[in-house]
Amino acid sequence: RLVRLRQRLAGSGTLGRGLLGLLSKERLDEDTWEAIEDLLIGADIGVEPTQQLVEKLRTRLRVEGGDLPDARTVLREELIALVDPTFDRSLRVTGEGDAPGVVLVVGVNGTGKTTTVGKLARILVAEDRTALLGAADTFRAAATEQLATWGDRVGVEVVRGPEGGDPASVAFEAVARGIREDVDTVVVDTAGRLQNKQGLMDELGKVKRVIEKQTPVTEVLLVLDATTGQNGLVQAKVFSEVVDVTGIVLTKLDGSAKGGIVVAVQRQLGVPVKLVGLGEGPDDLAPFDAAAFVDALLG
Ligand code: GDP
Repeated sequence: RLVRLRQRLAGSGTLGRGLLGLLSKERLDEDTWEAIEDLLIGADIGVEPTQQLVEKLRTRLRVEGGDLPDARTVLREELIALVDPTFDRSLRVTGEGDAPGVVLVVGVNGTGKTTTVGKLARILVAEDRTALLGAADTFRAAATEQLATWGDRVGVEVVRGPEGGDPASVAFEAVARGIREDVDTVVVDTAGRLQNKQGLMDELGKVKRVIEKQTPVTEVLLVLDATTGQNGLVQAKVFSEVVDVTGIVLTKLDGSAKGGIVVAVQRQLGVPVKLVGLGEGPDDLAPFDAAAFVDALLG
C-alpha cells in the first residue's frame, strides 16, 4: 500500500527531499531554517503548525555532546506527531442492531463527492458488506446519472428521485429501503451548492432529520479537494458549521503537491482525515494512515 501511495501522491518525495537536503547541511543557520519554513508553508501545512514543527526540529537537532540525532528519523517522528497518529480514523459504517449504518457525504460541488460515494461503495462491497446508494443531489441531473453509472460499475443499487425533487425525500427513501432490505450500509450523496449558509443548513439539516426519523446517521464525511488549498478549507468550514462532520475525505491528492493540507484541515476542523482520493478510478480511495502518509511524503 505504501508503494501505491508513494506512486500516486503527487510530488511525493519532493517535500521530504527538500527538507532533508536542508537539514543535512553542515550548519543549520537562520537562512536554512527560514528555507525549511518556506517549504513547509508551501506544502500548505499552515503557518502556526509550521512554526511549531520548526521549533521542535531546532530543539531536537541541536548538537548535544557532538552526537547529532539522525535528521530523517527526527523529521519523520515530528511529522507523524503533527499528522496525529492518535485520531480514531475508523469509518462508522455499521448501524445499531439490524439497522444499516448511514454515511452522509457532503461538500462543495466539484470536490469529488459523487466519485467518492462510488469508490466507497466499492470498498464496502470488497469487505463483503451489502450497500445501497442514495442520489440526494437532485439539483443536477448529471449528478444522479453519474452516481447511477458508479452503481453499475461497482454492483450497488442506487435510489434516485425525480430531477429537481426534494433531496430529503430521496435520502428518506434510500434509508427506508436499506432498512426494509436489511442492507449493511446506506451511503447518501448530497447536493453541494454553496448558497448562503442558512440555505445549506436548512437543506442538509432536513436531509439528516428525515433520515434520523428512521435510524441514526453513523458517519458524516466532508469531501475536500486537496488542490484547492486554503481556499477550499474556508468553504469546507462552512459545511462543518452546519452539520456535525465526523470525518474528512481529502480528494485529488494525486494532483496536488500540497499534502500538508492534511495537517491544516484537521487542525481547523478538529476532525480526522479518514480517507484519501488518489485518482479517478474505482480503487483510488484509501484509508488514511499517518505513518504511511509521512513515509510517502518523505519518499
Ligand atoms: P462532485 O461534484 O463533488 O460530486 O465531484 P465529482 O465526483 O463529479 O468529481 C469531480 C471531478 O473530480 C471528476 O472529474 C472526478 O473524476 C475527479 N476526481 C474525484 N476524485 C478524484 C481524485 O481523488 N483524484 C483525481 N485525480 N480526480 C478526482
